[in-house]
Amino acid sequence: MIKANSDFTEIPTVGPTTARRLKSLGLNKVQDLLFYFPNRYQDFSEITPIKDIKPEEVYTIRGTLQLIKSRRSWKKRRLTITEAMVKDKTASIKIIWFNQPYLKKILNPGDEIILSGKVKMQELTLEFLAPSFEKVKKEQTHTGRIVPVYPLTSGLSQRQIRFFIKTALTLRKKIKETLPERITKKYQLMPLPEAIKQIHFPDSFEKLEKASKRLKFGELFYIQIQSLQNKRFIKQTRAPVINYKDKYIDDFKNNLPFKLTKAQEKASQEIIKDLKKGNPMNRLLEGDVGSGKTVVALMAAFLAIKNGFQVAFMAPTEILARQHYLKIKNILKTFNFSLGLLTSKLIKINDEELSKKKASTIIKKGGVNIVIGTHSIIQEKISFHNLAFVVVDEQHRFGVEQRKALRDKSSKKHDLAPHLLSMTATPIPRSLALTVYADLDLSIIDQMPQGRKKIKTEVIEPEKRKKTYKFIKEEIKNGNQVFVVCPLIEPSDKLGVKSVKEEYEKIAKDIFPDFKVARLHGKMKTQEKEKIMDQMKNKAIDILVSTSVIEVGIDIPDATVMMIEGAERFGLAQLHQFRGRVGRSEKQSFCFVFTESESPKNLKRLEALEKSQDGFKLAEYDLKMRGPGVLTGAQQSGLPDFKMATLADVDIIKMAREAAQDLTKKDPALKKYYKIKQKAENLYKDTHWE
Ligand code: ADP
Ligand code: MG
Repeated sequence: MIKANSDFTEIPTVGPTTARRLKSLGLNKVQDLLFYFPNRYQDFSEITPIKDIKPEEVYTIRGTLQLIKSRRSWKKRRLTITEAMVKDKTASIKIIWFNQPYLKKILNPGDEIILSGKVKMQELTLEFLAPSFEKVKKEQTHTGRIVPVYPLTSGLSQRQIRFFIKTALTLRKKIKETLPERITKKYQLMPLPEAIKQIHFPDSFEKLEKASKRLKFGELFYIQIQSLQNKRFIKQTRAPVINYKDKYIDDFKNNLPFKLTKAQEKASQEIIKDLKKGNPMNRLLEGDVGSGKTVVALMAAFLAIKNGFQVAFMAPTEILARQHYLKIKNILKTFNFSLGLLTSKLIKINDEELSKKKASTIIKKGGVNIVIGTHSIIQEKISFHNLAFVVVDEQHRFGVEQRKALRDKSSKKHDLAPHLLSMTATPIPRSLALTVYADLDLSIIDQMPQGRKKIKTEVIEPEKRKKTYKFIKEEIKNGNQVFVVCPLIEPSDKLGVKSVKEEYEKIAKDIFPDFKVARLHGKMKTQEKEKIMDQMKNKAIDILVSTSVIEVGIDIPDATVMMIEGAERFGLAQLHQFRGRVGRSEKQSFCFVFTESESPKNLKRLEALEKSQDGFKLAEYDLKMRGPGVLTGAQQSGLPDFKMATLADVDIIKMAREAAQDLTKKDPALKKYYKIKQKAENLYKDTHWE
């Protein structure tokens, strides 16, 4: 009997190798399969009579297998061709499969089968080319229905994963509903076990839509509960008062090598006002890559220090923390502050490397004004003398438990919680941000510093690829560096989608054998990734072939070319983020975009990218173009907190908000709903910081 926490090897046909491959998708136990959702579907539900079939279209047919045989190709010796005939009441058609000789063993004349795929005209006869197939059963899995398509890794096939998930779905009756009945009734939500079934194997598109609504609602509901709990905590908690003096502000500004933009001024004012209040600030600072968020945060940090308090500045990764440390040291150098760097690998105070123990003693005594580091600042046993202000880069959300942890670290003497400023380059339109995050105040920097060079962006036609490589060669010869972004890590069964593995090999061996080429992707260990990014910074690498993992905020001044493959697979906001990895110096930078899709919708989107460098405009355009999709997945959603929902799901966001408000109005501390409270808190407990 399969159980929720069974290992994969308990599923028939799964051996250690397959289990390892499933693990590489982030799946560990059978129950994880239930929550590994398809990223798209193929509609093979409508069966067409064979006589109505036309070339170049996709069809599903049902009929009897007349004959099946395999042979070697005359022209290409290594190719095995399997041919079959299938007949229904109206006509018959020839079927061709390549290199699947085993089909002859599974399929026999007389079998009732269903086939789906594209029909081609070959020498005046119609042929079904390499169709998906399945014998007629009580319930179909691979054809004759709406078929799920999963994101996969090489060595795993869609047929395999569908079978595993189908097996896991026998457990679905054991899944507990996570929403109160009042809510599922009021909003007519599909029960969770049914939604899980329908999201994998939908009976119809209506049911799929309902399943998707239920799952998105669940996700958004917990985000809302979390926000409302935060709001309540903030109201009940007091914070240190950080006073404002004109002189401080002038000192800080006069020390900068540039003038703040109007937008930076406005955001600074909003933050400074919050700091004077006796309860904790909870503000999100949004601004496009390069809009200058860091100085705005630093001005507030400066005020806190001048008021005698300590500041913590957190970055999502080790490299970004070190980068921030150097930048901040530079900006604040005339003020004689004491600066600490705290990461799991490197601990420094005023440039002197120290042991963790020594550093924490100094921090605790108040000997450091500003501690810059990774998440380890709250994870480790570091406490402060009087921490009053915390800046978090590229992270939206903190839960109540994390806030409490920060409060408890802040000081021994009182129970004041520090002010919190999160910074993000994700362009969320204001109204939506405020709907999604009930607890956050928002400042937006919607203007770039003057004199920035525009990044020249161009969608490149396939014929011009060679010319582009030539151009890139010149760039590298001039001492510049290049990023190549691909949608996948490994080649997949979906033809034509570029993967890091293939592109890396092609670029390193065939195209640029004389340059130093490296690759980077999310499945590499953190240490490996950091080593590669370090080498990129030190110019030991000319070309970095990567998935979307290259970090937001990473500063490689000599990177002047961003080449994006398979652009149709990325959201506009994401493409804009990739582009933001170049153009970080005086030099002219370039963004070359390649796409495999000529659909007018896609080309229009990419045209928008060519024309506009405004992240907010592009994000809004993207939302409008895309509309609420059935399921999109985190990559597309635009918000790191969302797995399924997207910002376009405005109606569901509003519903979830109303439901969460209803529940907390009746029971503000969620005493009767302890489980819901816990689940909401856990949303951010395991936040991935890479
Ligand atoms: P981001 O918003 O992406 O975090 P940063 O804060 O790193 O951007 O700023 C990008 C660069 O722009 C930094 O080198 C910073 O010193 C510079 N900068 C910030 N504000 C201004 C300004 N008003 N005028 C000119 N340069 C600025
Ligand atoms: Mg930044």
